[in-house]
Amino acid sequence: MENDKNQESFRDRISTVDDAGKRRWIYPKKPKGKLHNYRVLVAILLLIVLFGLPFTEMNGNQTLLLDIIDRKFYIFGLVFTPQDTHIFALATVAFLVFIILFTFVFGRMFCGWVCPQTIFMEMVFRKIEYMIEGDARSQIKLNNGPWTITKIFKKGLKHFVFAVLSIVIINLLMSYIVGSKRMIEMISSPINEHFGIFLAMAILSAIFYFVFAFFREQVCTNVCPYGRMQGVLLVDDSIIVQYDFARGENRGSMKDRKNNENPSPSLVERLSEDMVRAKQNRGIDVNKWGDCIDCNQCVEVCPTGIDIRNGTQLECVNCTACIDACNDVMKKMEKPLGLIRLDSFNGVITGKDKLITKRGYAYIAVLVVILTAFGIVFAARTNVDAIILRTPGMTFIPVNENEVSNLYNYKFINRANQDYSNLEIKLVGLDGEIEYIGGKIPVLKSLQRVSGSFFVKVSKTDLKGQSTPLRFEVYNNDEKLESKKSNFLGPIK
Ligand code: SF4
Ligand code: SF4
Repeated sequence: MENDKNQESFRDRISTVDDAGKRRWIYPKKPKGKLHNYRVLVAILLLIVLFGLPFTEMNGNQTLLLDIIDRKFYIFGLVFTPQDTHIFALATVAFLVFIILFTFVFGRMFCGWVCPQTIFMEMVFRKIEYMIEGDARSQIKLNNGPWTITKIFKKGLKHFVFAVLSIVIINLLMSYIVGSKRMIEMISSPINEHFGIFLAMAILSAIFYFVFAFFREQVCTNVCPYGRMQGVLLVDDSIIVQYDFARGENRGSMKDRKNNENPSPSLVERLSEDMVRAKQNRGIDVNKWGDCIDCNQCVEVCPTGIDIRNGTQLECVNCTACIDACNDVMKKMEKPLGLIRLDSFNGVITGKDKLITKRGYAYIAVLVVILTAFGIVFAARTNVDAIILRTPGMTFIPVNENEVSNLYNYKFINRANQDYSNLEIKLVGLDGEIEYIGGKIPVLKSLQRVSGSFFVKVSKTDLKGQSTPLRFEVYNNDEKLESKKSNFLGPIK
């Protein structure tokens, strides 16, 4: 955006790396403001759900259990087995399309408000850090100071709390894989009875601790693939945390403004083409001071250490902390709020106060269609999956002069948490008789499968030709569970 080469230096490296290529530790100022309060509320809600869910049940199973070992996923009362791979494949595609479209419209809002990495970092670990070490300035002073008793105590306490918290969180997260009941059993039994899992949890807890104690925002800027994709996903209409450069430039400190009624021509010359265009579109005088007083408050609160006034950058997780900080400044300056706000680049250029553009509405419509399609496929999923096929390689078998039979194989897979003890196959679309081989269908126990074979005996006069379509319906008592199309082979008429 800036046309001066020196102003582009932020593009040479990420904000957390210094000139020598070393890590620059970020000390963000404690965020405060309306949006931050909303974020705290959202985070509390999500944390309650995340840690409460493993201890709730639906239809007799843990509400959300991803039992990878037994290859069964329990999701809100439904049980998914490897037979549901198509649903997961569809869900994955829908999810990917959803992410792409969502990012086109709403930018990286997910990162700052919902992503577990940001929630744990900013709403849990960072808050503890503020509590123990104080705000940014106190932290800098503590880190740069000598190893006094106070420093040893504060650092020791912080890392001890971080380590304990990491162990607790990993234990809770593992409840989603091994089940909360099993997790409690394991915690209360000797380590040697489940040493493998203990070791895995210890390693995961150590990684978790390392990420939140040291690695921090590097996850968002260097590791997360979603963050790396922003460059191709964002368009000029995407809603992002946007600095209103038309209104903010020419920026200048209070001192500069006191000394000069208007910005110097050299400062005005540094305005980029976009800035000039936006100012002209919106009737803002390019030769006057803008609203940004260059106080740096927006930079100081940024947990990824960037200056949002440089435009969208890959480090920005849309946490909105800079919006609160700038609004606070604007309030004090008695200027309109929203110098930094949620808006699109085009919104700033045109000055049109339209949060979602026509393209945005079109994307939202596509999102709704995708979610509806997924909902329909999901709703069509039955508790019992039936596979009924004519025995391969066999044609019809003459029973007597008037009747012929076909042999079929069935396989029923029970995804429900209940047994089906009175299963029956009914013939639809063709008069005929079903004869099970080896007696009636066995009891189909919860999450089990049964298979067998049966003959269908049909009068030759009822056949429509060499192949007559028919349908099998599977019932348990009077409850229809599944319906499958097939055909019946007969002699040439
Ligand atoms: S907080 Fe607002 S006024 Fe202060 S530097 Fe940032 S954009 Fe400018
Ligand atoms: S620039 Fe603003 S929204 Fe982006 S990460 Fe920094 S504080 Fe958060």
